Amino acid sequence: MDPRWLDWVVCPRCLGHLDFREGTADLWCPADRLAFPVCEGIPVLLLDEALGPDGSAASVVPDPQP
Ligand SMILES: [Zn+2]
Repeated sequence: MDPRWLDWVVCPRCLGHLDFREGTADLWCPADRLAFPVCEGIPVLLLDEALGPDGSAASVVPDPQP
């Protein structure tokens, strides 16, 4: 994945900055401790697809909508 993407991809939950997760191709939100998989070069920024710190599926409760 092109690292320049990190300039504009944000976490869908907290809208914070994402980093590459060490040792994986995932994108990592340090604030939420969630990893978002990258599928064929496309980041999958869906809470339904997010992974927890151990790589297991995270059951994420989205923030309530205003
Ligand atoms: Zn986040």
